[in-house]
Formats: sequence, structure tokens, C-alpha cells
Amino acid sequence: MGANDQVITLKTPVEIELMHHANQIVAGALHLLRENSKEGVSTYTLDKLAEEYCRDHNAIPAFKGYNGFPASLCASVNEEVVHGIPSKSKILHDGDIVSLDFGTLFQGFYGDAAITVPVGEIPESIRELLEVTKSALMLGIAQAKIGNRISDISKAVQVHCEAHGFSVVRQFVGHGIGSRLHEPPEIPNYVQRQASPRLLEGMVLAIEPMVNLGGAKVKILRDQWTVVTADRKPSAHFEHSVAITQNGPFILSEYTSA
Ligand code: MG
Repeated sequence: MGANDQVITLKTPVEIELMHHANQIVAGALHLLRENSKEGVSTYTLDKLAEEYCRDHNAIPAFKGYNGFPASLCASVNEEVVHGIPSKSKILHDGDIVSLDFGTLFQGFYGDAAITVPVGEIPESIRELLEVTKSALMLGIAQAKIGNRISDISKAVQVHCEAHGFSVVRQFVGHGIGSRLHEPPEIPNYVQRQASPRLLEGMVLAIEPMVNLGGAKVKILRDQWTVVTADRKPSAHFEHSVAITQNGPFILSEYTSA
């Protein structure tokens, strides 16, 4: 990558409106998937639902073919952290959790968000993992304001998760988003030693804590995609695309039932 690839692009209000639209399609798809994440449903079925919803709303599924990814949806069950490949043989069971990560491309701009949903009844410890990961995302978003640094987001996420005895994944991080799915800056879910960029009006950030019930270490399976926890304990993942505005963080991918 050349030096220019490291520049954080600032979006105009018109571009942010397009990104809002792209992200609302993501939010609508995730809402549909949440309702369909039931016992006996395959992750392949969820992938097809997401892709159909996306195309019905005149958008392109952003992950399909991205670096060769073979599906529209990343569906990651239980110990799978992110980048799970949907499959007809991957059937959801009572007590599972599934991370649903979806992206769209609409009129040249990307949307990206994720939720982790329970299938039927799940143990209390895993319910807490989901709640803490989601609240860590919201605490990180609250720091996404002009004048703060990326590290303020990272710190808010890390402190909250570790206070509850969970670990944040280091090897995968959030990212800027815009006319490319992944843009600078990186948004780690832990505080790094080096200084991180200041947040400016017009930045759009995909903030995505990946939080493990056990240790922080992860591995990539032989399919070259699926990331799993090294100790095979469950992992949760929530993501929003957020614009930095004069009025504070604007959650582009927040679901509105309009
Ligand atoms: Mg993302």
C-alpha cells in the first residue's frame, strides 16, 4: 500500500446520507436474520435471506467475492469469532449463538454491521457475554466524537469487557468505511502503545468488538476464513457503522422500523 492509502477520508453530508441508506439496508437485513435464527435453520438459509433482502433494496452484497469470500453473510456460530462461511450443513441448535455480519454497497458507498443472536435458550454466562459485548460497542460509540482519539473508543471497549472477566480479540479490529469496505484507520478493541488518530467531523468508523468468554487467542480454520477461539469457548461480535458529526456520533446502522 502507498502512503495515500493511509489517509483517513472525510465524508460530506451527502456521502453520509448515502452511507446511512447503505447501512439501513444492512440493519433491515440483520433484523430479518434475527427473526429467522431459529433451531433447525441452516446458515446457508440465512445467507440467502440476506442476499435477497439486499438485492430487493437495490444494493449489492459487499462481502460476496471480497478477497474471495464465497457468500454474502458472515455467520459465525458459538466458538467461531468472525468470518464463518454459511453452509447447508451448519444447522442452528437450541443453545447456540450466531454472529451475523452483513455488508452492502449502495450507490458507491458501503454499509457494515453485525449482531450476535441467541438461538432458543442459552446459558446465563453466554447471555452476559452478549450483553457485555453489545454494551461495550455502545460505550465505544459514545467516545466517537470530535477531538477524541481512536484509542478512546478502544479503551472504553476494553475496560468494560475486561471488567466483566471477558477478553477482547487482538488479531481482528474495526475499520474506517466509505467508498471502500475497509479503509484506515484501524479501530482496535484494546489500547495500543502508539498514539492513535484524532477523530474529525466526517470520519465514518465501523466499530466492532469481538469478545471471548475465555482467552483472547484465536485461530483460523483450514477453510482460510473461519476465525475460532483457540480454547473453543464462545465468542460474541457486535458492529455498527458510525459517522462523526458536529452533533456527536451518528449510528448509521441503527435499526429503525420505519
Ligand atoms: Mg466490519
